[in-house]
Amino acid sequence: MQSQAVRLRHAVPSLAAAYSEALRRWMGDPVLRLAGLPIITECYRSPERQDELYKQGRSKPGPVVTYKRGGESNHNKVPTPALDVAFLLADGSVSWSGLLLSKFARLMKAADARVHWGGDWPGDFKDRPHFEVLG
Ligand SMILES: [Zn+2]
Repeated sequence: MQSQAVRLRHAVPSLAAAYSEALRRWMGDPVLRLAGLPIITECYRSPERQDELYKQGRSKPGPVVTYKRGGESNHNKVPTPALDVAFLLADGSVSWSGLLLSKFARLMKAADARVHWGGDWPGDFKDRPHFEVLG
């Protein structure tokens, strides 16, 4: 498993800076800090891994998690303008709580207005763990 720092090094500088700032503010808030520790679950993703994810919910069991094939996702770019976030809870489990992600999204967007949150995407497919910078 890659460390958080190594994952962040694969991100474009503006995204890495926004994440670092959002994380700093999160940890500086006693209520948020107790709610969970933000972690990067995905940043750069190889085209091979993207193709594996694409199969999920199609030729493999599980829910559909992506509409992009290998090479089509912003996660496949080097450096990548996209990263996915979850939360490490006190009991050691990992949470994708929509409430926590929306709170983290507010800090990400405050840190850099170029940050787009997958939870804001139009249409039915919301990708709440997903953040990316455009432009
Ligand atoms: Zn993503």
